[in-house]
Amino acid sequence: MDFCKYYDFEYEEIHRYLANKNIGRVLLQFPEGLQPCIDNVVDELKRRFPDIEFYISTNPSYGSCLVDEYSAREIGAQLIIHFGHYEYPGYRPSIDVLYIGVKRLNIDIQTIGRILDDICGEKNISKLCLATTAQHIKDIYMVIDRVERCKIFIKGTIYGCIPLNPDNCDAIVIISGGKFHCISQSLALLSMNPKPRIFCIDPYIQSVIDPEPEVEKILRTRMWKMFQASNAKKWLIVTGFYGQYRENIVKKLVEKLKSLGKEYRVVKSLRFDREILANIDAEHNYDAIVVTSCPYIAFDLKDYGKPVLTVGEAFMVLENNFSSYRYPW
Ligand code: SF4
Repeated sequence: MDFCKYYDFEYEEIHRYLANKNIGRVLLQFPEGLQPCIDNVVDELKRRFPDIEFYISTNPSYGSCLVDEYSAREIGAQLIIHFGHYEYPGYRPSIDVLYIGVKRLNIDIQTIGRILDDICGEKNISKLCLATTAQHIKDIYMVIDRVERCKIFIKGTIYGCIPLNPDNCDAIVIISGGKFHCISQSLALLSMNPKPRIFCIDPYIQSVIDPEPEVEKILRTRMWKMFQASNAKKWLIVTGFYGQYRENIVKKLVEKLKSLGKEYRVVKSLRFDREILANIDAEHNYDAIVVTSCPYIAFDLKDYGKPVLTVGEAFMVLENNFSSYRYPW
């Protein structure tokens, strides 16, 4: 497939890992956006490693929070190769995992270097903290030496639910295609004081995006959702699998709901979407829903008939504390 030629599936890295290891069966896992390339990748892996059996997981792979341990155990795989993300902090799968970032090729890094230098030239910026996705991190290490007007600190991979710590940063730069990482970092900064400036660079169109207008719009929607949930009597708590199973958060929510005399149910879902909401008739059975697995789901379900909240929003409602927006937990 033509689209796949823009990605480096890092076969040499896989080769180095598999060489001299006695591995007979491997489970491959790809993020949704790279699944059209599965066939090409398996062809290449079969060519290089004819004695290894490769199985493909099509279970959700929105992030490295969802390493498909269950499927790997079921088929007796000795290794999971998880493409498209690096390890999710705080989650160590029970099976060996090789994370392959899948570098995006043909990115104009000279222009990105120039954009970074321009940002450094802005007033009061001497320390710039930068985070990006697995697809661009290697490029970024190559480009920062060319930035002369300020010091850049690479804070590693960005996750939509783990905002970058802005301590000692005059400004933050997020380099990522799409808006989610930029918006989620901006939302997290809302409760911080002092709040560093944020710049978002889309590496595909090589331009700086100002997240403010979108963040304001999202915030208005989120405040409305919280208002709708403020008198909710019966809550649905959604928890996930693997790195999205957040036992302590569920426990705290349950304690809070109990202390307020609210009713609740807890569901565990690998994939939580409109189909599941319809199956359990959530619109009639619950007054509010809080998603502990992934904050993106709450944003994605913003038009659902009942308020679907992130964990931070649920605590704002249950603690009746709206002094600042709390994201993500
Ligand atoms: S934002 Fe969601 S998909 Fe991304 S790492 Fe966090 S929990 Fe996983």
